[in-house]
Amino acid sequence: MRLTLPSYVANAIEKLNARGFEAYAVGGCTRDLLRGEAPNDYDIATSALPEEILSVFEGERTIPTGLAHGTVTLLSEGGPLEITTYRIDGGYTDGRHPDAVAFSSSFREDAKRRDFTVNAMAIHPDGTLLDYFGGQEDLERKIIRAVGDPALRFEEDALRILRAMRFASVLDFEIEEKTAEAMHAEQERLRLVSAERIREELAKALCGKGVLRIFTAFSDIVGFILPELVPSMGFDQKSRYHLFDVYTHTLHAVAAVKPERVLRLTMLLHDVGKPFVFSLDEKGEGHFYGHGDKSVEMAAEVLRRLRFDNATADTVLRLIRYHDLPLENFFTHLSRLRGRHGDPFLLQLLEVKRADNLAQNPAFATRQERLAEAEALLRAEMEKEPPFTVASLAVNGKDLLALGLPPSPQIGSILSHLTEAVLDGRVQNEKEALLAYFKENNALFSTPLEIERKLLIAYPDTALLEAQKGVRIFDIEQTYLYNEDEALTERVRLRREGASVAYFHTVKRRLSALTAEEQEAQITKEEFEALLSRRDKTRATVQKRRYALPYGAHTLEIDLYPQWKRQAVLEVELASEKERFSLPPYLSVLRDVTADKRYKNVSLSREFPDEEE
Ligand code: ATP
Ligand code: MG
Repeated sequence: MRLTLPSYVANAIEKLNARGFEAYAVGGCTRDLLRGEAPNDYDIATSALPEEILSVFEGERTIPTGLAHGTVTLLSEGGPLEITTYRIDGGYTDGRHPDAVAFSSSFREDAKRRDFTVNAMAIHPDGTLLDYFGGQEDLERKIIRAVGDPALRFEEDALRILRAMRFASVLDFEIEEKTAEAMHAEQERLRLVSAERIREELAKALCGKGVLRIFTAFSDIVGFILPELVPSMGFDQKSRYHLFDVYTHTLHAVAAVKPERVLRLTMLLHDVGKPFVFSLDEKGEGHFYGHGDKSVEMAAEVLRRLRFDNATADTVLRLIRYHDLPLENFFTHLSRLRGRHGDPFLLQLLEVKRADNLAQNPAFATRQERLAEAEALLRAEMEKEPPFTVASLAVNGKDLLALGLPPSPQIGSILSHLTEAVLDGRVQNEKEALLAYFKENNALFSTPLEIERKLLIAYPDTALLEAQKGVRIFDIEQTYLYNEDEALTERVRLRREGASVAYFHTVKRRLSALTAEEQEAQITKEEFEALLSRRDKTRATVQKRRYALPYGAHTLEIDLYPQWKRQAVLEVELASEKERFSLPPYLSVLRDVTADKRYKNVSLSREFPDEEE
């Protein structure tokens, strides 16, 4: 086989040769040319010393990239070329950096310091191939083999352990036995390697064809750099939706998604929280309620530690958070989803869901068809019009100020409400219609910010409460609905007072620890039942008996939960964060739990804190 180098590479080599220096194209480009693949880039190795390289290319644009390591970058007409003097690396006492770099006049010496036989070859424009360590044969046999004694080579630079996994994955090669043994044995040296270098090799390895095979065979090394994944390894899901343990499912999902960094990272981390939220139901079926949130939390730590850039981390975390979004939402709430997340994100999310499903029990693979339909629908909508956002609204902040509203953050929230109203089809996106809608539904928009204080009190004397003037007693059942926007809490409430039953639908948007913006509407029984189909199955319905007790200028709401025998919760709504209120003497306060998230109803729907002493 005659290998041809691009003319800009051949020219640079010939210029060095004309001055009496050896020069070859080396490393990855030789490997790729021999495999018949187009190299990413070309590197040149030469017997010329760095100053000599600079002198050969005098008058051309060069950057002294790493003179101490012998590297000069030539900005040639065909692209940047790294030209490096033949080297002999000294020892690596710290396992990170060679103690000294010595230059050499022989490529054989230079080849010895290279990592793998398939990366240690060189070619010349005249067709000469230098291969001192059997690289060609290993290429043919598809083998990654360390140059020299593998244990020593991994001790010098443990990154090579991950590079072996990377090349085996990307090239879809096997790792030679002694090399593999040394990788397992030397893995702890990886603690000396910087997060950035680990990140790059990990990301490339993930994008390879052989990722499932290699990350299975070297799961100990994966676990060493990503200890968060260790609990997933061998974790039995006890679910008919799954054939594999969590880690194996994870790897199948990685391999099933397009080889793009963001998508592969998402699949690698999408279920990392599962072992931490596992529960078994009475039928012995496993569940992982809330695993999306737990996975996001753990993935955030992984991405931070490996110093992934913010854009990558944001997208990966958002994809993990929504990876279990019910597919129905694509059909029923597509315009809202488009407005909120944008089309590129939704396309990625569908890829993620497709890969996740492919890695599950094929008995449920019919979802692939639904996923394809969802994508077709999304693409058809994309053809028709861009996603609808606040910017698309036919009114803006100025129009609202013109109505005499004071400038405040509420303007922004009104615009968001109007956007939602348009997306829900409640109003047309026309200026007149929007302003009219705003005026008609003023009550909805001008809801004062809800400021509440919440106190834990000793279980009150209910007979005494019932005897108070003006007290009203409600039995309330509160059920949370699944909503894809994490800033929103959506719930329905059934409220019984004597013989009468009322139903409510509430959407709460949290603004700060003390303030939330709340929209509450009374609904019909039919609407209530319809909304229940969207119930968040990870949360229990919260039941409570509420005493609404007028006292002083306020109404105190005292909630008794069946889970507690000795304590109850008292809530009072205030006009400002500073407003004072008083309590009747027969109530005794245990402590203020306003800022204690565990006592929010939404938290109680998951777990009741133990009673306090
Ligand atoms: P890619 O296609 O990703 O560029 P590559 O083989 O060119 O693959 P690089 O990281 O660009 O990989 O390294 C270029 C060459 O330098 C390698 O082919 C190898 O010969 C040598 N090399 C790189 N890193 C190491 C290392 N840590 N230890 C030993 N040799 C290395
Ligand atoms: Mg390269």
